[in-house]
Amino acid sequence: MYADIIVDISYEKLDRIFQYRIPERLKGRLSVGNRVEVPFGAGNRVISGYIVGFSENTDYPKEKIKEIVNVVTNSRKAEGVFISLAAWMRKVYGSTMNQALKTVIPIKKEVRGKEKKWILPVPENNQILEGLGKRSPAKAKLLTILKNRKAISVEEAEENGVSLTTIRQMSEKQMIEIVSESVYRNPSVYQEKQKRKEIVLTDKQQEIVTDFLAHYRKGDRKTSLIFGVTGSGKTEVYMKIIDGVIQEGKQTIVLIPEIALTFQTMQRFYGHFGKKVSIINSRMSMGERSDQLERARRGEIDIIIGPRSALFTPFQKLGLIIIDEEHEGSYKSENVPKYHARETAEELARLTGAALILGSATPSIESYHRAVNGEYKLYKLANRIGGRKLADIEIVDLREELKQGNRTMFSRSLREKIKKHLGQKEQVMLFLNRRGYGGFVSCRSCGEAMRCPHCDVGLTAHKDGSLRCHYCGYQIRLPKNCPKCGSPYIGVFGTGTQRLEEAVRREFPQARLLRMDMDTTRTKNSYEEILSSFAKGEADILIGTQMIVKGHDFPNVTLVGVVAADLSLYGADYRSSEKTFELLVQAAGRAGRGDMPGEVVIQTYNPEHYSIKTAAKQDYKGFYEEELLYRRMLKYPPCGKLLAVLVTSKEEQQAEKLAKDISVLTQELCNKDGLEMLGPTKAGISRIKDIYRYVIYYKETETGEQITEAKKRIEDYLEQEKEKQDCMVQFDFNPMIGY
Ligand code: ADP
Ligand code: ZN
Ligand code: ZN
Repeated sequence: MYADIIVDISYEKLDRIFQYRIPERLKGRLSVGNRVEVPFGAGNRVISGYIVGFSENTDYPKEKIKEIVNVVTNSRKAEGVFISLAAWMRKVYGSTMNQALKTVIPIKKEVRGKEKKWILPVPENNQILEGLGKRSPAKAKLLTILKNRKAISVEEAEENGVSLTTIRQMSEKQMIEIVSESVYRNPSVYQEKQKRKEIVLTDKQQEIVTDFLAHYRKGDRKTSLIFGVTGSGKTEVYMKIIDGVIQEGKQTIVLIPEIALTFQTMQRFYGHFGKKVSIINSRMSMGERSDQLERARRGEIDIIIGPRSALFTPFQKLGLIIIDEEHEGSYKSENVPKYHARETAEELARLTGAALILGSATPSIESYHRAVNGEYKLYKLANRIGGRKLADIEIVDLREELKQGNRTMFSRSLREKIKKHLGQKEQVMLFLNRRGYGGFVSCRSCGEAMRCPHCDVGLTAHKDGSLRCHYCGYQIRLPKNCPKCGSPYIGVFGTGTQRLEEAVRREFPQARLLRMDMDTTRTKNSYEEILSSFAKGEADILIGTQMIVKGHDFPNVTLVGVVAADLSLYGADYRSSEKTFELLVQAAGRAGRGDMPGEVVIQTYNPEHYSIKTAAKQDYKGFYEEELLYRRMLKYPPCGKLLAVLVTSKEEQQAEKLAKDISVLTQELCNKDGLEMLGPTKAGISRIKDIYRYVIYYKETETGEQITEAKKRIEDYLEQEKEKQDCMVQFDFNPMIGY
């Protein structure tokens, strides 16, 4: 018997399976996923690796095969499922096996030993204490201490003469409650004590829960999309569905965007599931995260909530994966393998027999398209709970303002409304829809934006005065006059939040301001601090980027101003319209969450653009239909596949040459079946940290297989030529960013 092993060196040249002999003393003790130490190379340096399989035979001369040195103790045993998932990721997204394994098995060592335990009083503490009388002094002593304390550690109880046996007995009889350190340190635990009042689902909500669970119990595993406007009660639906899945003895992973992992969300889940649920997020230490994964593996919890990476929670009986806000860009990994959590969740669900639910108020075009085609089951929640109205939305044409001589950042209407709402002692949010590094360029007279003639994406202004397309490398000088109307008012529309803040100070000197963007949220808690300060009414106006529009509930906000809706419309990205639509709908959703009705003002140079018009009407379907036409015409996802191949090297000529070689290699595929190749070209950011970047794009219709063939050819070529190259090659399928 031989063990097939992937060695732990993330180096493409070694990305293959090595076989090792299993020594006598380890026979029967090894399984797939184990981390082992093996001698490697000419010097037999001991390095570690993962067992990915076993073979009876080998093609190598038997005497040359080396022996496994040891199995790494304390290593988390990666489940076979995750090895398969890694293999799938490697194949689909293009990476080394090692990189894929590291992604699905992120934490390798038990960082900490045993968890500290805490004893909490139960609400009936005092009655139980009275009931005890004089019978059990040790128990009485513990309950007496707990009369005045929120919690004491098990060690402290022992120091007070209460034995572990007594503590265990008391816990079993529910006279006390024991929680682990990680749960205890989480402030939400205390909210759990104030049991949430049981919510009775509306008929619409109940229909979804009943229908889903009926199919689930029958073994139907078709992916579901819950398309429900913000505040329509999706989260309540998730929780009731999870109840049903728990009854089936199964476990659930809930993914939410990191940014939405707020105190509020955690509180709701704790309120419903108590200790059965655990949370994982990037602010936790390695040790804390490792603990949560370990608890999941041991089956101590039924639910884990976390961002993208929580997908790799090693549940033994995974039954359901929920991806909330499935349209969010943060579900795509920016590291190799550049996986998308939605696609990866689908594969994980397939491997484990789990179901997958996607939820969103503004589904991604891909998901909605699948639902329309019947690939996904579609559930709708069209109304907000409590019949609360969506806000009134006004579109202001900034070109008109300019004609009237108004060159400030505020239209007359927005200025009036800010005054009015501040006068009523209500709060205002001003949102600048700006993302990415560069500004787009447009004419302030006619609204014409500078666009690439080959790609239908906006050109991005660069510091050297050029305008570039990040998709194909097309490049021109910034013109002096608008090519369409000749106006000289053409320029880089780079109004940042800082400039907005200055303008607000000038116009509304009395108002108290808070600003939230990348610059003001660098420290660990600044994000929560700004939001909670605004929630407490310590400021009148909150200025910010898209950070402020996602999922927060401020009942006193009655006016939302979108200062420049166009800023994401011409990003160098085929998803620009979709992102704009999403952000506008989300922004509008911030106004009028409380009892007072809300108003929204959208300022734009493109009032006729479909993503702005449909967003103002909160018309998802209208947007989808227009957008799909565009995607179909240009073969963008979901009507096509897009692959970015990024070639990087310290030597510019090397990167350029390899990119050229690759394009020559794949050129012949482009002649048939509609595979298109764009490039090679310098990447939009042509050098990062002294590494030069070249990019080639491939595009084809959804059904075509040529793109996969192209990737395979490139991989084979790299395998052959690996000795010569000093370059890195990365694949990115359906990229979320422009290179
Ligand atoms: P979504 O996830 O779609 O934004 P939520 O589940 O957060 O919606 O629901 C919005 C608000 O309505 C929450 O405060 C929630 O507790 C409440 N809610 C949801 N369903 C019901 C219901 N059936 N009865 C009463 N309140 C509900
Ligand atoms: Zn013009
Ligand atoms: Zn272009």
